[in-house]
Amino acid sequence: MSGGKVKILLAEDTPTQAAMVKFSLQRLGYEVVLARDGIEAIEKTYQERPDLIVSDVIMPRLNGYQVCRLLKDDQHTVGIPVVLLTSLDKKQDMFWGLKSGADKYITKGGAVGELVEEIKKFLDERTGEKPAGVKTETSPEKAGGLGFDVMERVIRLLDRNLFESTVVNEIQDLVNSLDDYSKTIVSVLEILGKVIDFDPGCIVLSDDERLELHTFVNRSVDGAFLEKLGTEAGRILGGEGGGPQVMKEEVYDPGGLLEVPGSHPAQIGSLSSSKLFTKGKPSGIIALASAQVGVFSDRTEQTFDIISRHANIVVDYARLYERTKRLSITDGLTKVYNHRYFQEQLLREFSRSERSGRPLSLILLDIDRFKRFNDAYGHQQGDIVLKELARVLQGNIRSGDVLARYGGEEFAIVMPETGDSVCGEVAERLRAAVESHSIPGQDEDLRVTISMGVGSCPREGISSPAELISAADRALYRAKENGRNRVEC
Ligand code: GH3
Ligand code: MG
Ligand code: MG
Repeated sequence: MSGGKVKILLAEDTPTQAAMVKFSLQRLGYEVVLARDGIEAIEKTYQERPDLIVSDVIMPRLNGYQVCRLLKDDQHTVGIPVVLLTSLDKKQDMFWGLKSGADKYITKGGAVGELVEEIKKFLDERTGEKPAGVKTETSPEKAGGLGFDVMERVIRLLDRNLFESTVVNEIQDLVNSLDDYSKTIVSVLEILGKVIDFDPGCIVLSDDERLELHTFVNRSVDGAFLEKLGTEAGRILGGEGGGPQVMKEEVYDPGGLLEVPGSHPAQIGSLSSSKLFTKGKPSGIIALASAQVGVFSDRTEQTFDIISRHANIVVDYARLYERTKRLSITDGLTKVYNHRYFQEQLLREFSRSERSGRPLSLILLDIDRFKRFNDAYGHQQGDIVLKELARVLQGNIRSGDVLARYGGEEFAIVMPETGDSVCGEVAERLRAAVESHSIPGQDEDLRVTISMGVGSCPREGISSPAELISAADRALYRAKENGRNRVEC
């Protein structure tokens, strides 16, 4: 504003229209500066520092959308309101006009008087708001008398937009591999690693019951540094009190860059983080770190921000997908795998064993006299037993073994790479562990025993998973027949 007058830059290539609008605006007490095309509009914005820009859409050299985009992209001019004028009244133009960052869109179909009224109304509504103007003094040289600098900026902006949409496309492509949950999460970090210089980065995901930490090593880094990053990210996400305990921790180090403690600086010099949200609630964080100080520029932060927003959608879907998948293969009561998953795994392992000739064993187990137990202590207490039993079994098998609830009070354990004698030993160990495990009851500690049948292959007469199940089932029947609380092979 000069001398209290509101200064309007009017960019309009039709001289008569320009003269009429200028005249009408001046009569209302505004100071008006004219520009005859887009490039002149940009230059004069820097030179004249107007309070408002009113720009025609169709103009030579740069159109109104492009002028608007360019000004809204520069922190020095982003605050100046832009009103776009067009004789078109099409949805698409309006959409594009607002996408370019314009503050208002006026259709100039009618009389000049109406148009000027609308501009006045717009300005009146904004009085009281802080006048924006160009933030810093800009010399006319910088604005570039020949428009060279302006064109260079147009190209840079286009280039950057193209870059950003390319990266965003890469993130969106991950939707095609959502079935591999961990891979999707790590790919997000991998894509970030292609465009941002960081040492390690991590994604922490949390919900009410689980906290997962996925770390990606982008450059040689100390193990202690990685830990610091995880702790720091968890702190930003969950506050000092912290949320749920870490349930799952995965470190992805494709280049073998993780080194022994003490080999690199373990202090975090720079940290940039971006929160992830699910249904409006914070549900995770992406954090990038560097040992060096001040490596993340404003420009980098902007890119990170854009990628994070898109990554949020992909990560959210991947998580939902994983959760649904997990629920569909989990037994609700005991949280071990369900019957369907057991059948799938047995088929998979059976085929693998057939191909490789390696042994495969199956244990079927059943709680002894469980009906009597239920009758004596109630069904609810019976359910506690089932949960406790699952916990004891799970705690006594290898991670490659698959424990599932076969149905009712029966469980199955698929044991790849295991012959009948080893399997018999494992079964015996499990039997003893269950027998000696006391289960908290209402008045007293309670105990149950289990009977177990072992089936193994390769063996004559066993040529399908169903036949392996039959063999284990027959053995289980023998265990019951021979007195219960025992293992039969
Ligand atoms: P056996 O030693 O011959 O196996 O005797 P049993 O009583 O265990 O066998 P039976 O097949 O006669 O009874 C199985 C009982 O298991 C019946 C049922 O009450 C109990 N049961 C099955 N599923 C559940 C469950 O989800 N919760 C509870 N509490 N009990 C269950
Ligand atoms: Mg039974
Ligand atoms: Mg039973």
